[in-house]
Amino acid sequence: MPDWTHELPPLPARPARILLFIAMAGEAAPIAHALGLRQGASANTSTSASIELVVPGADPIVGVDRIGPAYASWALTRAIAVRRPDLVVNMGTAGGFAAQGLGIADLVLARDTMFHDARVALPGFDAIARAHTRLSPSDATLDALATALGARVGLASSGSSLDATDGEMALFARTRTLAKDMELAAIASVCAAERLPLVSLKGVTDLVDHAHAGGEPAHEAFVRNLARTCARLAEAAPVLLTALRGED
Ligand code: SAH
Repeated sequence: MPDWTHELPPLPARPARILLFIAMAGEAAPIAHALGLRQGASANTSTSASIELVVPGADPIVGVDRIGPAYASWALTRAIAVRRPDLVVNMGTAGGFAAQGLGIADLVLARDTMFHDARVALPGFDAIARAHTRLSPSDATLDALATALGARVGLASSGSSLDATDGEMALFARTRTLAKDMELAAIASVCAAERLPLVSLKGVTDLVDHAHAGGEPAHEAFVRNLARTCARLAEAAPVLLTALRGED
């Protein structure tokens, strides 16, 4: 029995319509620029060839980007209904784990994801809440992409918080988590329900274990490293998308 609950469909050899999901406008701008995507007239979408950018956008009341799993599910489900993609790609920032050898601006290609803050002591419901999902690229494709991108391959886990609890830190160590974000497991759950393939590349803005041990807090490291990490993601984006489009 595999150790994940959902296994996403394999990558299409030549996808026709790719949805690129990015949680924050500040993350999306350099990546969209590197890919030559134009910002669309109607908010939060832009199109170039077969790549469509999906960004949940700023909340009209609070005025900040709608980060987190709920808005990721909302924006992605809507975009899928309208655009009918045959591949979903997620790029964005994440906390990384120094104990796993990661540093600021390093890249992590997700092999699998889950909600690390889901705790439900009921059979079946525990698996649904945890939503442990194997992403689409085969082991061989993950290795080839990781070599091309200079990325590590492994578990990128999601939750609703930027910081981490002691219990979550123990889980991260046990599962050898490489990266921690706030959207990927939600995106993967939508893809599992819609039977859509998914690839995700994360860039490290902060070190979770350093912050938890009393070092620079995640939110401060995030702000300090955001531009540098997004530049690294933007550099990787054309390489990733070219490979996924079967053009190399
Ligand atoms: N906008 C805020 C911080 C948002 S950080 C500010 O400027 O301070 C949260 C975003 O970055 C989420 O979209 C999440 O996916 C990602 N992220 C980066 N580091 C993270 C971490 N250590 N834990 C969880 N999410 C992280």
